[in-house]
Amino acid sequence: MKCGKPLEVEEQEYCFDCSKNVFQYTKGYALWVYDRNVKKSIAEFKFHNRREYCEYYVEELIRFYESKILALAPQVLIPVPLHRSKLQERGFNQAALLALGLGRTLGIPVVENYLLRHQKTKAQKRLNDKERVINLTDAFAVNPKYQNVNYSNVMLVDDIYTTGSTIDACAKVLLQKSTKEVYFISLAIGKGY
Ligand SMILES: [Zn+2]
Repeated sequence: MKCGKPLEVEEQEYCFDCSKNVFQYTKGYALWVYDRNVKKSIAEFKFHNRREYCEYYVEELIRFYESKILALAPQVLIPVPLHRSKLQERGFNQAALLALGLGRTLGIPVVENYLLRHQKTKAQKRLNDKERVINLTDAFAVNPKYQNVNYSNVMLVDDIYTTGSTIDACAKVLLQKSTKEVYFISLAIGKGY
């Protein structure tokens, strides 16, 4: 198991996306399957500014994954960034709020702007596999401010993991520096198929 997606067939080792792709990240965890209720909750959080939901999300993430995260011993938590214009529009980065909550509870530093999102990427779900990869290539970069700051063991934080292409695009950028292990923690994950 790499991404932690629930699998239809128990004996299956990897989900469809993990067996199809060679992911750069090492492994990761997700709390919930991205079903109707979870989708609704996260949409309220993101688009209707229900930031108070974050507290509950963090509590649940901690309840299930505290020991697993601590076992991986990431030096730092880094949220998947939003493009500047989206951040302005929304007023907050949901992944950063999750990361800050987790970091505070677990005593792990959070570097909110370590990664930058360059292009305004199109919504991934509207694209096919090939377009997704092209869409994300070069979308992320290390913030020049942190050019000389290196972490060997990083945990990325995001709200929704779908195919893994976003997390992996971030992982690639980190691995191009001196990072050796990239993990992720996500609030929700799409179903394996
Ligand atoms: Zn997988």
